[in-house]
Amino acid sequence: MLHPSRKSAEIPPFLVMEVLEKAQAMSAAGIDVIHMEVGEPDFDTPACVIAKAHEAMRGGQTHYTHSLGQRELRETIAAWHKQQYGTDIDPETIVVTSGSSPALLLTFLAICDDGDEVILSNPAYACYPQIVTFGGGKVVAVDVYEEDGFQYRPEKIKDKITARTKAILVNSPSNPTGNLLDRERLAEICALGPLVVSDEIYHGLVYEGQAVSAREVCDQTVIVNGFSKLFAMTGWRLGYAIVPKPLVRPLQKMQQNFFISAGDFVQTAAIEALTGCAAETEAMRAEYDRRRKLVLKRCREIGLGVTVEPTGAFYVFCNVKDHCAACGLNCYDLAFDILEKAHVAVTPGTDFGPGGEGYIRLSYANSYENLAEGMNRLETYFSEK
Ligand code: PMP
Repeated sequence: MLHPSRKSAEIPPFLVMEVLEKAQAMSAAGIDVIHMEVGEPDFDTPACVIAKAHEAMRGGQTHYTHSLGQRELRETIAAWHKQQYGTDIDPETIVVTSGSSPALLLTFLAICDDGDEVILSNPAYACYPQIVTFGGGKVVAVDVYEEDGFQYRPEKIKDKITARTKAILVNSPSNPTGNLLDRERLAEICALGPLVVSDEIYHGLVYEGQAVSAREVCDQTVIVNGFSKLFAMTGWRLGYAIVPKPLVRPLQKMQQNFFISAGDFVQTAAIEALTGCAAETEAMRAEYDRRRKLVLKRCREIGLGVTVEPTGAFYVFCNVKDHCAACGLNCYDLAFDILEKAHVAVTPGTDFGPGGEGYIRLSYANSYENLAEGMNRLETYFSEK
């Protein structure tokens, strides 16, 4: 009898994938399901990036690269950070990885010994606790509240800092709430002492205000970013970590052992993404904003609670506590009930931690027409409750 390891057997599933898989099974059975659960752009990757990848493949770029990533890509990433934020990044401190997910895992592997603590918000991106735990850390959650705009409060973080605190994870714009941390608060969090790991994957997808890079307010931070969201390149699997110098070699050695390098032609195509497709990314951003306004307007009309409007990423985190209470369902069961009866796939808030109970996350990474139809279906569903 083959027994899987305890840690692999006990890892919680990524609930949104369970909703997605059920929605896909319904679609396969001929049911027209509107997808508002997935956290991935519906847009195709810009054509110039695809063309660059073809060219690179035909030119023989089908090999391993340097474990830290192609030198030219690292220089281009550094130039991008200079241009976007005015920050000076040493290309030698950039580790290019197969997505931001491995960059996060390598980071926590590099900073945590068993029992070291990592502070994150509750709710937060669903995979963080597992990444931190497998990386050797222990999760310490700081609750954030809707009434407070889901803001991650420095004073609340401070209360959780102990001698074992190795890092504070921040994510702005945030998944699942779509809210941003302002410059002052980010600076205060960076000044608390522990290393700040800033997941900046939704930078560029901002509709009001400005996303601040942690390096703008503090030199000793880890920046994690990638090409999945802004450049609609989820399937290409490319991201990076920018780390303080003492962490470069540890990350590099783990990359060599576990992943060797990120994809060769993928890295060349990413240079094109950073330098040659500003018009395409701006068009996608503008379209997300149009959809955001539609979904928010419809949420208000339907009576789905959104106290503080999200201004980044592509999510709306809706309060459905009254609906849950009225029908005696928790938000997980409610999400599946919505899928079965209204044929709209949404993500239960508890995918993002216990603080997400009573919420559903709506993703507006779907066409305007599909979102309009999805919101009509939700209106009918909730009016019949
Ligand atoms: N961080 C956040 C907050 C995310 O939402 C996601 C993807 N859903 C990731 C990291 C991982 O993205 P990837 O590995 O595709 O770069």
